[in-house]
Amino acid sequence: MSTDFYLKQLSLHEGITSPYLNKVYNLSLRNNQNKRVMKVDTQKSLLTSVPYLSSQHCDDRPENTLIDLIVIHGISLPPGDFGSGSVQKFFCDELDFSQHPYFSTIAHLRVSAHLFIDRRGNVTQFVPFAKRAWHAGQSSFEGRTVCNDFSIGIELEGTDELPYEQAQYKALAQVIKALLLAYPGITQDRIVGHSDIAPGRKTDPGPTFDWSYLQDLLKA
Ligand SMILES: [Zn+2]
Repeated sequence: MSTDFYLKQLSLHEGITSPYLNKVYNLSLRNNQNKRVMKVDTQKSLLTSVPYLSSQHCDDRPENTLIDLIVIHGISLPPGDFGSGSVQKFFCDELDFSQHPYFSTIAHLRVSAHLFIDRRGNVTQFVPFAKRAWHAGQSSFEGRTVCNDFSIGIELEGTDELPYEQAQYKALAQVIKALLLAYPGITQDRIVGHSDIAPGRKTDPGPTFDWSYLQDLLKA
């Protein structure tokens, strides 16, 4: 679906604080992405069937870097509050930090992920895979530091304590299958949680994340 289509749809709605993001978000809820086969357009390095909201929070990967890791995260803003669109706004520099006391604690941060999967399993892309998204921070995988250089970051809307939704696992598995095809450097044993590459500093996606269920879906 083209950006033009989204913009046209967007113009049909009344504005809120952040009309663009809210409308894309609402539109994505109406599109049942779960029934689609996901694919990466390797020229654009974007998923073909999901909304793309461009985040400025990214830069170039080091030259000739092989993308060979997926990092799974959990996020919600404020924590435990779902469906507000706050995460999407945060990634796109559109979050009004005065709206919630928690937001002031993150106002100094500039972060993003390549993909965000909301509680209903809707996927939004923020950074093309060829670019470096800012999701992992200080991190290390098999002795290599700065995992942002060589990884794709996927944020699931959630918290460490609450189980993630089945729709999220299904969407995640679809996304990962598409990424495995497009980026052969990523293999099934190179899919990790943020807590695996930044132990002691990060705990997401949390103990409730069901790794064996994800593995089952990837085999299906
Ligand atoms: Zn994280």
